[in-house]
Amino acid sequence: MLKKDVLAALCGRQLTIDELVTALAGGEPFRESYDMITQLLDTLEAEGIVTKEAAIQKTCRRCGETPTMLPGTCGRCGKTCSYCRGCLMMGRITACTFLYRASPPAAHPAACTWGGSLSDLQQQGADALVTAYRKKRSRQLLWAVCGAGKTEMLFPLIEAVLADQKPVMIATPRRDVVQELEPRIRAAFPEATTAGFYGGKEPHERIASFNIAVATTHQLLRFRDAFPVLIIDEVDAFPFSADAALIRAASQAVDQNGLTVYVTATPSRTLQQEAKRGKLPAVTVGRRYHGADLPVPAFHWAGRWQKRLEKKRLPETLVRFLRKHRDRQVLLFVPETADLEPVREAVAKLLPGIRCTSVYSGEPLRAERVKAFRNKQIDVLVTTTILERGITIENVQTAVLGIEAPIFTETALIQIAGRAGRSPRYPNGDVAFFHFGKTSAAVRAVATIRRLNRESR
Ligand SMILES: [Zn+2]
Ligand SMILES: [Zn+2]
Repeated sequence: MLKKDVLAALCGRQLTIDELVTALAGGEPFRESYDMITQLLDTLEAEGIVTKEAAIQKTCRRCGETPTMLPGTCGRCGKTCSYCRGCLMMGRITACTFLYRASPPAAHPAACTWGGSLSDLQQQGADALVTAYRKKRSRQLLWAVCGAGKTEMLFPLIEAVLADQKPVMIATPRRDVVQELEPRIRAAFPEATTAGFYGGKEPHERIASFNIAVATTHQLLRFRDAFPVLIIDEVDAFPFSADAALIRAASQAVDQNGLTVYVTATPSRTLQQEAKRGKLPAVTVGRRYHGADLPVPAFHWAGRWQKRLEKKRLPETLVRFLRKHRDRQVLLFVPETADLEPVREAVAKLLPGIRCTSVYSGEPLRAERVKAFRNKQIDVLVTTTILERGITIENVQTAVLGIEAPIFTETALIQIAGRAGRSPRYPNGDVAFFHFGKTSAAVRAVATIRRLNRESR
């Protein structure tokens, strides 16, 4: 029984003995369970089922960072020792620890039971991914515009991998995406074992077995050579695009001959260039699943809006926009947290009767306020860029005040524009950029949206 548990826990992971014992024994590990599991691992290693290696060699074997000397003696081995700072958030590993790993057990084939059907363009995207897997490519880009229905395009690939009795990993930079995506995958593959992994889970949850895993990119550090297919969703989003250790973790988690699929609505310039030069196989789904064009943002002059805001006034153009959409919901993006309250007060003063509130990443009532907006109890939600992705509200109009701020990059503006017109019932949303000078990022964002509309016609 214990042997089965240990192998299920390893399941493509690389774990220290401490992680294993804590997770398997639950709570504070007993000396006996520690000794017993160590013995068992040594036996399994001798049988060639488990691989054991020093956690820290020249570099850390978990994250690739250079180790740091521990001040004084090590609490674990009692000698001079070093530890890794790079992956400290996953628990400290020292030079006196080992990482154990075992191949994932064979997965059961599980059919996709999703009842919908893919559009022709979605089908092309889905087919390209299955082809990349069959042809044993190492990388593939899926450039799917906001609202293209990218999750459904992944289903045929997931089904193909499960049919080969292998596990699949979908990684994403953000925890809320894991929480949103995992139930959708679970519903589409009811016969498969699906698990979600992100920071802050209990030790025993961290070693849950799975055929399909959805995890934050950080969690990839726990896996090695584990997946024939690794799908990275929103590959362009912070912090993945910025963090070299996470890129290393991704290449480490996938099998040596495995396929990494990059999924994004806004690929970085590097990815776009690689695709253009033919170095990175790419498929573009430039149209939403309902078939309508992406809404093209319109520019509106806002003048010195910050000066007006000090007097609790808004640019005339913005007031007109809010009046025009009085009976609809509006997402209003501002550059900084400090702009939220003045804008909210000005809206309340100038447009009495409009229910308005604000959110930012540190807002304690963030979840409640977004929920109230979803429930149509709020008309105007003033927000920082935290809501640029992921949020889908039927018939929402979007506005950006102060697009000249550096935080509004081309990517951010395309994502913001992508919030509008997503539903087949209301496919044409209004997107307005209020500015005190157009930036090249904003001009490029509009040009990219126009080009995608043209090319997918
Ligand atoms: Zn490390
Ligand atoms: Zn030590």
